Amino acid sequence: MLIRGVLFDIDDTLFDSGSEADSVLAYLAMQGLLDRFPDSDAALGLWRELKERHYDRFLNGELTFAEQQRERTRELLARIGASTQAGLSGEEAAAWFAGYQAHRHATRAPFPDAEPALKTLEPDFRLGIVSNSSADHQRRKLDTIGLLSYFGDRIICSDQHGAAKPAVSIFLAGCTMLGLQPQEVAYVGDNFKTDAMGAHQAGLRGIWLDRANDNASVAVHADIGVIHSLNELKGTLVAQNSDLQPEY
Ligand SMILES: [Mg+2]
Repeated sequence: MLIRGVLFDIDDTLFDSGSEADSVLAYLAMQGLLDRFPDSDAALGLWRELKERHYDRFLNGELTFAEQQRERTRELLARIGASTQAGLSGEEAAAWFAGYQAHRHATRAPFPDAEPALKTLEPDFRLGIVSNSSADHQRRKLDTIGLLSYFGDRIICSDQHGAAKPAVSIFLAGCTMLGLQPQEVAYVGDNFKTDAMGAHQAGLRGIWLDRANDNASVAVHADIGVIHSLNELKGTLVAQNSDLQPEY
């Protein structure tokens, strides 16, 4: 079947979260906390460790999206000795994290290839989002980086859906949202397993956005498309569709 729709991952696919490191370091410095770490790498290492651990708890349904933010803050400040022994209250932790988000918000940016790709796809393909996150959070993020209009309400996030990628159900919910069969939909994301293989296992066309050119070190399934920039996306989809057109 022809591909008629494209679903996207957001973080590290459309949105450049690589700028996160600068935001974290700047916010810790603003808060007078950066000198509590041996160096910047140690600060980023702890930030990432806590983010990964507590975000996984959110994805597993153990914490709400706001709770994982508060837990990360509490543990971060406790580990560097910047909170009292009793730790931060929920309100204090939420306020600290909100300060970080406000700072981060001001520095958010899409990848330079994101908007041009969406613009060329928009006339020919139905576009949507399937993301492991909170829908409100991701909608605000897309709005801030100027990409929300390409998706409108066609956004499914794991918090509202109740299961996270690579669960088959969340990919199928994305197809239903577009009004298409899984075989008519491509899914584009930066994570080979969660995005590309997850989508493939749900019956979609999985496309791995391998920005770092890691494909030599990964055993890529033959049915997975590999691109290195979103500039290659439309050409890949059009080429695949023309292979499927009957010859006359
Ligand atoms: Mg991603």
